[in-house]
Amino acid sequence: VTAILERAARPFISAERYGARLEALRRLVHETGGTALLAGPGAELFYLTGYQAMALERLTLLVVPADGEPVLIVPRLERDPAEHSPAGGAGLVAVRTWEETQDPYALVTKALQSSLPNLRSPHTFFIGDRLWAMFVLRIEATFPGSRLALASDVLKGLRLRKDAEEVDLLRAAAHAADRVVTSIVHGRLVGRTERDVAREVVERLIDEGHDGADHGQIVASGPDSASPHHVGADRVIEAGEPLVLDIGGSLGGYASDTTRTVWITGDRGVGPDDEFVTIYDAVRRAYDAAVAAVRPEVACESVDAAARGVIARAGYGAHFVHRTGHGIGLEVHEDPYIVAGNDRPLEPGNAFSIEPGIYLEGRYGVRLEDIVVCTDDGVDVLDEAPRELAVVSG
Ligand code: ZN
Ligand code: ZN
Repeated sequence: VTAILERAARPFISAERYGARLEALRRLVHETGGTALLAGPGAELFYLTGYQAMALERLTLLVVPADGEPVLIVPRLERDPAEHSPAGGAGLVAVRTWEETQDPYALVTKALQSSLPNLRSPHTFFIGDRLWAMFVLRIEATFPGSRLALASDVLKGLRLRKDAEEVDLLRAAAHAADRVVTSIVHGRLVGRTERDVAREVVERLIDEGHDGADHGQIVASGPDSASPHHVGADRVIEAGEPLVLDIGGSLGGYASDTTRTVWITGDRGVGPDDEFVTIYDAVRRAYDAAVAAVRPEVACESVDAAARGVIARAGYGAHFVHRTGHGIGLEVHEDPYIVAGNDRPLEPGNAFSIEPGIYLEGRYGVRLEDIVVCTDDGVDVLDEAPRELAVVSG
């Protein structure tokens, strides 16, 4: 019953919000002189309509013309889910279906003609960043001489600024991941393979309300923890070594991504050595410095520099081998990237990870990761799993 109540209370994106997104996008396509945005299954389609479409060899395409009504073209057998999607159900998009023997590209032409009586040529289409080449080439052939640009050119600015409902979903996903990482850390670890623990992570994420958790869970023990993207494999976790858990999935379409590093003592109580304590402390202070740097107008690269400076001063600059963070939302990695060279100023609603790390090859590594949101005057840290060094028996 509790689970049912919690699911019922899950935050959701209202039809009104989808309407506002579609209209804001249409205006951007219009202002840039584009003909239409064409997006297939994936984050862009979901962002604009709430429709979680299957990526198939059959064409599914959202057409958002510069003027006129957005049209969602789907294979006949997908009509029901498309019509019952938030935007379909609210009449924000016209759902048009094609039969197995029909040419779906004729529907694309029709969707544009009905809304643009005087089609300008050559056309500029904003094409979904991850639309398959087989569809892109057919669109190009259907509209010869058209100019193709990335959908993110017009969509990025909108998706970068998370609204309150999106932040609620990111927070719900973060809290679920926090509960999972905390329970795994305090469970049995010694003698199990990393892969076995990774499997438990996926199960628990689903139990905690995630819809899916199919991007590889990072379970890295002992020397494996010195590799930032080590995915749980056959190594057996031992006493007297650290464990890096970097876990996540998606809840209501929004991603979680949390990392905690613990030290496992085992029965004999083999505690962390001095250097491990030193690097954990440096990573923790780097995390604090980066979080403290987050506020509107601060450049993304300044947040990276805040974390990097702490680790460099501790003498481990060469061992912090990746950027400090990445944007997060409908995709685990999206704009804004918290990296040197990115001078984009932060804006309220930007959501991203702060995840400094130190990796000593052949020995071990430490990483700490939370998701934060830039607010009107500072930062909102979404994750709340404890951040002090946990020394557990395992
Ligand atoms: Zn992560
Ligand atoms: Zn991350």
